[in-house]
Formats: sequence, structure tokens, C-alpha cells
Amino acid sequence: MQKKSLTIFLAILVSLAIIMGIVMANKNKPEREQHQNFKIVTSFYPIYVMTASITEGAHNIELVNMTETNVGCLHDYTLTTNDMKKIEKANVIVENGLKLESFNDKIISAYPKLTVIDSSIGVQNTINEDDEVNPHIWTSLDNYMSQVKVITEKLSLANEENAELYQQNSKEYLKRLKELKTQYEANLQNVKGKKAICLNEALAYLADEVGLNAIVIETDHEESTLSAETLKNLIQMMKQEDMQMILVDKEDSLKNAQTLANETGAKIVALDSGLTGNFTKDAYLNAMKENLNILQQL
Ligand SMILES: [Zn+2]
Repeated sequence: MQKKSLTIFLAILVSLAIIMGIVMANKNKPEREQHQNFKIVTSFYPIYVMTASITEGAHNIELVNMTETNVGCLHDYTLTTNDMKKIEKANVIVENGLKLESFNDKIISAYPKLTVIDSSIGVQNTINEDDEVNPHIWTSLDNYMSQVKVITEKLSLANEENAELYQQNSKEYLKRLKELKTQYEANLQNVKGKKAICLNEALAYLADEVGLNAIVIETDHEESTLSAETLKNLIQMMKQEDMQMILVDKEDSLKNAQTLANETGAKIVALDSGLTGNFTKDAYLNAMKENLNILQQL
């Protein structure tokens, strides 16, 4: 009887020890297995949206956008302490390229080991403005797809753990982008060759892709910066050329666009250059679908 009790007692003790062992092991597990997530930083909103689609569902990664939501484009952008902090532990930074990230030298000198992914590599359809290439390439679906491919390829090399997933996500994303491109081609015969004035340089690639005959005015994304003199000249030119459309971004103030419209009878067409919006993976597709709707109705 005593012996039996002892056996039970020992059995319980052993069980407890095993349970404790498991508990302790589990408790220690996160620490032992703790490794840094692969940190991907994107320079600004359009690049974030691309990368979010490619990396959806990836394991052990962290995706962070460097700039605040409201910065818009990165022209003349000065890095903040907070931006630098976000890059500090990053494995890669994904950028638009074509000198849009004018602060790049600062990042490279501060973090020489950081992998920089330039999404513009291989983009062939570029538009020149004076001596410089217009860097707002993503408003063309073709260019955007090229950027997605580059980011996918470079990320797969940098973060092999998720390479297969990146390829798969990218394939699906590109399929949807291609479908939208087909819709653009099928439904926008109405705008082909039409003359327009474009008051936001980010829309230059979109205008070009849909076949608009657009003259692009550099405004640093803000048409209200146009001087009275410039406006006077634009009105004259628009009348001479019989321009029927004024392209602006939906976020623009419309002050000067309205003046041009009043003087010439041209229609204001407010499009989405994809510079601001929701931080969701379908944001670009949705913006471009909306642009298609607007252009179709002209
Ligand atoms: Zn810009």
C-alpha cells in the first residue's frame, strides 16, 4: 500500500516535472528563437502601396513607410530625425528612383550596409522635362508594373525566406494590373489625341499612356504657384491650340485651373496621381480605376 502510494507520488512528481519542463521551455522559446524581423522601409506612399501588395502575408517581416502620410511627393524633402530612426534597423529601403529621393546620399552615408532597391531600374517609358527625367513614373500602368517586377526580384534576393510568396503575390498583382491596362486600352479611344494642358507633373505619365496630347507645366504639384504672367500666356496658348482639357490632381487647389477654365471654356479634369490615399494594398488599383471612370466620361 505504501509502495503503491510512493509510486503514484513519484508518477505525479515526474508528470509535474515534465509539465514544468514544457512550460519553462515554452517560456524560454521566444527568447531563444527571437530574431529580428526583416525590416523593409519604403520611401513614400506610392512605393509603400506597391511593396504592401508584394509582401502581403510574408513571415517575420516588418513593412514601414519612412515619410508621414501627408508629405505628398518627395521634391525638396528634408529627412527628419524620425525618418532616420525608421531606417536605422532596416534591412532594405525601397525607393522610386530617378532622383526623386534627393536625400539618398545622406541615407547611404549614414547606413552604408543598407540595401537600396531602386524600383525605376529598367523603366523605359520615361518623359524628359528640360534636362531631367520626370520621376513620377508610377502614374503609367506599364511603368508601375515594371516597378513591381523590380521590387519583387530584389526583395526575393534580399529576403529568401519569403521569396516564393513574393513571386506569387506579385504574379497575382500583375495580373490585376494587366487586366486594368486592358480596360484602359479598350475604353479610352475617346481621349486619344485630344489636346490638354497638365498642371501637375505627376500626371504626365498617365496622360501619355492614354494618348492625350498634353503639354505639361511644372508646378511642383501645386497649380496655385502659377504666376499671373504664366496664366496669361497659358490662356493665350490654350486658345490658340484649342485645348479642351485642364488636368489637375484631385488634391490641387483648383484656383488657377478655374481661371483657365473660365477664360478658355476648357474642362477641368481632376485625376488621382496616387501620391496620397489609404495605406491599403489595393489603393493604387482603386485610384487608377477611378481615373479610368473619369477619363471614359470625357
Ligand atoms: Zn514630385
